[in-house]
Amino acid sequence: MIQGYNNRGLDVDLSTGEVKDFEVQDSIFKKYLGGRGLGAYFLKEELSPKTEPLSSENIMVISTGGLSGSLSPASGRFSVTFKSPLTGTISSANSGGFWGNVFKRTGYDLCIIRGTAAVPVYLYISEDKIEIIECKDLWGKNIPELTDFLINKHSKSARVLGIGTAGEKQIRFASIMNEYNRAVGRGGAGAVMGVKKLKAVVVEGKKRFIPKNEKLYKTGLYQANKLVRNFPVTSKALTELGTPGLVKLIHIHDMLPHKNFQDVTHKKSDIEKISGETLRMKILQTAKGCFNCTIRCGRATKVKNKKGEGPEYETIALMGANLGIYNIEEIALAGYLCNETGMDTISFGGSIALTMELFEKGIITPQITGNLNLNFGTPNLLEKLVKLTANREGFGDIIAEGALRIGQRYNSPDLAMVVKGMEFPGYDPRASLLQALGYATSSRGGCHLKGGYAVCLGFFGGSKEVHRFLVDTSAGHCVDAQDSGCITDALGVCRFISYSVGESELSRIYSGYTGLDYGPEDLKDSARRIQDTERVFNNKAGFTRKDDTLPRRMFTEKINIGGVERAIDEKHQFEKMLGKYYEIRDWDKNGVPLKIKEDLK
Ligand code: SF4
Repeated sequence: MIQGYNNRGLDVDLSTGEVKDFEVQDSIFKKYLGGRGLGAYFLKEELSPKTEPLSSENIMVISTGGLSGSLSPASGRFSVTFKSPLTGTISSANSGGFWGNVFKRTGYDLCIIRGTAAVPVYLYISEDKIEIIECKDLWGKNIPELTDFLINKHSKSARVLGIGTAGEKQIRFASIMNEYNRAVGRGGAGAVMGVKKLKAVVVEGKKRFIPKNEKLYKTGLYQANKLVRNFPVTSKALTELGTPGLVKLIHIHDMLPHKNFQDVTHKKSDIEKISGETLRMKILQTAKGCFNCTIRCGRATKVKNKKGEGPEYETIALMGANLGIYNIEEIALAGYLCNETGMDTISFGGSIALTMELFEKGIITPQITGNLNLNFGTPNLLEKLVKLTANREGFGDIIAEGALRIGQRYNSPDLAMVVKGMEFPGYDPRASLLQALGYATSSRGGCHLKGGYAVCLGFFGGSKEVHRFLVDTSAGHCVDAQDSGCITDALGVCRFISYSVGESELSRIYSGYTGLDYGPEDLKDSARRIQDTERVFNNKAGFTRKDDTLPRRMFTEKINIGGVERAIDEKHQFEKMLGKYYEIRDWDKNGVPLKIKEDLK
């Protein structure tokens, strides 16, 4: 048994009510580490890639990271892996907060959830009790009420992971929430939970983990904490302004989308209205942090006597700038509602942006919207649209399907700013080839995180800084960034610490914690295996090279970046980078992993 893990998983079948406890082999941890890795492994083992995502047959794997339960900085993250109702790909989404740490301390590393309950239920897991509990009265409740009720019923130390009405109504981009405002955000995990009639998973655990090699563990922790404290991005920028601090930076780099990615042009005075500085001045109450994190990038805010968290950068970009809405209070209030109902703000914003463009083009008419004016920049609209969507009411039923399906419905699929059905986050890929390749190759579609967030190498890479428009080197940087992100996802630590902490420190902490003799290359080897596993799942689900692409607009419509009109040259830039990317990953010309290792068969 490897120290630092429980070596136990739970298998819960909601159709039969059966709960099984099973042993997890050491070899699985050695190869897949945890978190995203365990999710990929068990999805490959347990789910046919052809499964209909919004069916009882889909499964969810909730898994803790290789460093969960340790004192590694920002190690509170856990992953949820499932077949996405939004994209049809494997989707692994993770969240911070405290839930992941407490779950690991119940004595389990992961939980597989299958089937559908006959009536709404929630799952309770503690060190000595696993229960499936009927909760008809909680169906229809949103996150604050649900969380308050379950904490009151169990105890103050209970942690709640749950869905709001968006998950119940199977909005394709419904999220799962914990700590009221922390989201397992992307890909529609909430909708999968809704299909299962699983309202919440409550955990209570206090188990402690003793590191195998305390000296090595403490050395790694000392080095990592020192780096977090001394590197300006993690000690200052994210702490002082949170992710909204990115608004000005991304705008300066001509990446901040506008009008459904038609351009990146915003007035400086408008940017001021939605900047991190304005958020701090107007609505900030206090900074908030996840388990064992000194960065504390979360923003507890208040607007008109209503308290909530955020908006984060992505929410400001997608529900603000990209819609031509420059009112921080309005964006915050709509963001609160997304958190309460459990909806991904990026996909919601991307879907609204498409409907606005179609409205302005006369393709979507007031008859379709229920007489709502959907022009870009329309004030006092967002909250109404969130409510309609989260309840699938009226026009909201169409928005709930996400941008790709909206585009298909109105014969305009090319105007959906998506890859594999997942809406773009707040960085125009024409402004960074690194980001373009990341979106195209991410295992869950148009995502900055699974895409590697290589864009940041172009603006706060420090000594790692990379030119954004170099074709020859982009594939290598993109692969490195994706591998590095995959390592943090599998270890269960926050991506943000990787701005200061490298794989050397992480491997030292992991080796000290578990007793495994792992260096940076071993972590990288696992990251490659995890991404190959995800890729094989996607290949079997029907995804090939033709799906690793971008919306036509990115190749055909130029935007002004630093005074130069640019689009991505599909043949000489994009296809060249993609070919090189496959080569580095050891995938064939169709994007199929060549050396399918024994454990991937
Ligand atoms: S950096 Fe932010 S998101 Fe990451 S663990 Fe810390 S508070 Fe949570």
